Amino acid sequence: MPLADIQDKIRASCDRAGRQYADVTLIAVSKVQPDARVAAVLDEGQRIFGENKVQEAAGKWPAFRLQYDDIKLHMIGPLQTNKARQAMELAQAIHTVDRPKLATTIARLAQETGACPDLFIQVNTGEEPQKAGVLPAEADAFVAQVRALDLPLRGLMCIPPVDEEPALHFALLAKIAARNGLAGLSMGMSSDFERAIALGATHIRVGSAIFGDRVPA
Ligand SMILES: *Cc1c(COP(=O)(O)O)cnc(C)c1O
Repeated sequence: MPLADIQDKIRASCDRAGRQYADVTLIAVSKVQPDARVAAVLDEGQRIFGENKVQEAAGKWPAFRLQYDDIKLHMIGPLQTNKARQAMELAQAIHTVDRPKLATTIARLAQETGACPDLFIQVNTGEEPQKAGVLPAEADAFVAQVRALDLPLRGLMCIPPVDEEPALHFALLAKIAARNGLAGLSMGMSSDFERAIALGATHIRVGSAIFGDRVPA
């Protein structure tokens, strides 16, 4: 779908919800997409992109950044502590802070370098054993822990279970964020970003609707 059509849908969703278009950040999820498609979306004017894997992001984005100096990268996949340094060098935001060890590693690197991307805590709203994220019942304590490390915590992120109504998960995430005084809500993907905007999403992560189906590597 052309980027302009996605932007129209975002605008319409904002209007319906009585929200400002400027308060919703579209992250174009470019993981596994061929460079030609990424180049086309850059050409359409998009500058904020999401990647799952540090390795892949490190291979893809330095070259594009030589052409465009205003690209912002958001890391949205599970992050190993030994990749934290590279992720922090590449990205302006990390959406998947999900355990104390990762938070303390990021804090140490932030101290050392004097810089830190915006951080989101991933919450496993569906309590799925295979999925990353803190459990909803542990979220408040982890928020406090990350704040005590003096890190730039902006909000919460979730990936609802595939077979459940996402709105329930978006509402739960919004509730946890509100009671913790967090403004950022990273939620909503290609199939449900309009519902996420209705429930307060500030960052939507849209891949296949923009780029077409992912071609397996
Ligand atoms: C791949 C991915 C997306 C984008 O998914 P689409 O359904 O293609 O929009 C969003 N968020 C995360 C965490 C992802 O891994």
